[in-house]
Amino acid sequence: MIAPRFPAARVEHTCHARGCTTPVARCMLMCPRHWRRVPAPLRARVLATYQPGQEAGRAPVTAAWREAAAAAIEAVAAVEGGARG
Ligand SMILES: [Zn+2]
Repeated sequence: MIAPRFPAARVEHTCHARGCTTPVARCMLMCPRHWRRVPAPLRARVLATYQPGQEAGRAPVTAAWREAAAAAIEAVAAVEGGARG
């Protein structure tokens, strides 16, 4: 029998950067390591379009946030792809 890595009561939420499995708080898009790699203007856009409580279903996730989040994930992937090792 394989024991679960995390208690079942806690739904695991991981960093959205590609290939990263670092658990992060649900209100955070990425782990701190990857968040730092997002260009500042994009970080500001993600934060500006974030609706408090959206991660818990208490507020709508806007198309603007989805776009900003996707752009941030792309930006991190571009940085990581260009700087190997
Ligand atoms: Zn990460």
